[in-house]
Amino acid sequence: MKILLVEDSRAMAAVMSVRLASFGYEVTVAEHGEAAVAQFAQLAPDLILMDIEMPVMNGFEATARIRAIEATQDWAWTPILFLTASDTQENLITAIEAGGDDFLVKSVPEAVLQAKMKAMTRIAALRKRLSVANRLLKEQASRDGLTGLSNRRHMDLTLDLAWSEARESGRPFALLMLDIDHFKKYNDHYGHLAGDDCLRAVAHALSGVVERFNAERLTEGAFAARYGGEEFAVLMPVASKPVYERIAETVIAEVRGLAIPHERNADWGVVTTSVGGAFIDAANDELMHVFRTADERLYAAKEAGRNRAVLA
Ligand code: GH3
Ligand code: MG
Ligand code: MG
Ligand code: MG
Repeated sequence: MKILLVEDSRAMAAVMSVRLASFGYEVTVAEHGEAAVAQFAQLAPDLILMDIEMPVMNGFEATARIRAIEATQDWAWTPILFLTASDTQENLITAIEAGGDDFLVKSVPEAVLQAKMKAMTRIAALRKRLSVANRLLKEQASRDGLTGLSNRRHMDLTLDLAWSEARESGRPFALLMLDIDHFKKYNDHYGHLAGDDCLRAVAHALSGVVERFNAERLTEGAFAARYGGEEFAVLMPVASKPVYERIAETVIAEVRGLAIPHERNADWGVVTTSVGGAFIDAANDELMHVFRTADERLYAAKEAGRNRAVLA
């Protein structure tokens, strides 16, 4: 376990270091608050023992800065125990207010010091486990279980932000709605489980195309989501019109290229998709209208025979 000991008195630091090392801890000493803040970022200690009165920067100020750094990180919380010469009520209150977790007099018996450190690091470990679990849950809550794409909820959350950014920067905004052709017949003919496999394969092809366009910097921050059932959406907050058209054609070609047999999609014999798109000046339009436009064009693509895109 890594301990950051912040102490300006060399004699005190030496004594404490020896004690801590004898408990089996790995000790790094910082000689004032500013050094502690710098060390903290590099070392990522498991626990900090912090003197209060020090030159350059005192322990309260250093603690406030360390807490500010942690606030920008997801799970981070490092126990900070203040070390002080006197065991007064005011010292305790100020220490806790400053973001410390406990308070110890420097003359504390070894066993007490060790027990307190143990308790603190136990809480820190628990907290870390909780935040890892939390992050995992958050991640799962934003994914569609069947295809692994972003789900509708996550799409809606991202969309508002992307839309307002496009508006403010005066950029156009592009959306594609994609729907598998005669998918009800696919289920009827091949069974629901095969239908699920098909959805996964289409989703995989779709996200592959989107990732490729992002990687080639043709789009920036484009992403695919499962909009519902056998419908998918591709959002392109930053794309030119030719790229918008290309991505639609590429998706259609790649899904057809998967060559998943679909006897009852009579014209093609394999699974195909239809796409409706909207490429719209965000500053002068409404998000609702973007979706409505894409949806109408998707319908038009179906009417026109499927396995095609209607983009204007
Ligand atoms: P169109 O070419 O006009 O789009 O016809 P379609 O049959 O694809 O459209 P329709 O909306 O009539 O049918 C959609 C089907 O998608 C019906 C539904 O059972 C199926 N479906 C929706 N979600 C799932 C899913 O998670 N798994 C499976 N296997 N099927 C799904
Ligand atoms: Mg001091
Ligand atoms: Mg549909
Ligand atoms: Mg369909």
